[in-house]
Amino acid sequence: MSQIKSIGVLTSGGDAPGMNAGLRAVTRTAICNGMKVFAIYRGYKGLISDEVVEFKTQDVSNIIQRGGTILKTARCPEFATPEGRKQAYDTIVKHQIDALVVLGGDGTFTGAKAFAEEYNMPVVGLPCTIDNDLCGTDFTIGYDTALNTVIECVDRIRDTASSHERLFFVEVMGRDAGFLALNAAIAAGAEAAVIPEEEIKKEVLEEVVGNGFRKTKNSSIVLVAESDVTGGAKGIAEAARKLHPEYDVREVILGHIQRGGTPSAQDRILASRMGVAAIEALLEGQRNIMVGIMNDEIVYVPFSRAIKDDKPINKRLFNALRTLSI
Ligand code: ADP
Repeated sequence: MSQIKSIGVLTSGGDAPGMNAGLRAVTRTAICNGMKVFAIYRGYKGLISDEVVEFKTQDVSNIIQRGGTILKTARCPEFATPEGRKQAYDTIVKHQIDALVVLGGDGTFTGAKAFAEEYNMPVVGLPCTIDNDLCGTDFTIGYDTALNTVIECVDRIRDTASSHERLFFVEVMGRDAGFLALNAAIAAGAEAAVIPEEEIKKEVLEEVVGNGFRKTKNSSIVLVAESDVTGGAKGIAEAARKLHPEYDVREVILGHIQRGGTPSAQDRILASRMGVAAIEALLEGQRNIMVGIMNDEIVYVPFSRAIKDDKPINKRLFNALRTLSI
């Protein structure tokens, strides 16, 4: 018999489509296994300020199809301090919560790891981010939906690019990881992707702009990951204008459109599988791990590994994009 009689569950950091599906799966699997479920509102902020409500199975009805998170999410700098985490632990003790399930990204797991170590508390994470930048999992919850949103937007931009014979630089999210930009570029038939993993040199830009645009095509689309280094779509567009003042260059920043929306079938299924696995992990005595998926199998990944900053992009995909854009 498991020692865990009650769990707390929260969503934290940037919202991602599928968080609600994950919350639903965690809540119902826990209840199915005889546990009490305490929903914590506004992430670690709500854990510190005791925004805790007991959830029954009907509290997660009718949410699987909703984007964002019904639990709300918040940034909470206090949780990065030992004093803040102490206050959070007081709430845990008050409600007799035995384990915590956190839905979020690398910041959330960095906090979870510190908390779990300080208070010897079992914590399990569900990877929720549209950036797909967590190690030890092929996919994160929210990524597939965002990818589909991006390509829908790019398809629309292409109509204008083609009608006006323009070169468009479209900026997508992913400051530290180019998964969204690269995969959206492939799926939308773009000419190139400018991503943080591959340094963009002047010659490359020339190749992209000079070779594709005007020589063989009258319009072009380049996906650009947001970046302080390149300046994102704006910075790259400026560089392209300098190289080719004769071209009609435009930039579009998709921004928060990418984060919301109804989750795709893939994200709902992924979140449901991972939510079930999070409770199974706790029942097995696992702690301080993120639930991941590798080759369609659920895996458990220590937080220390999940938050490592070295998830590689697929070089072959990058090369395929070059081949396909001639
Ligand atoms: P995400 O989880 O999407 O990466 P954030 O980076 O905003 O989002 O992190 C979410 C929350 O996790 C932060 O508001 C903070 O409460 C907590 N957190 C982030 N970094 C740390 C850290 N180094 N130590 C403790 N808690 C952290």
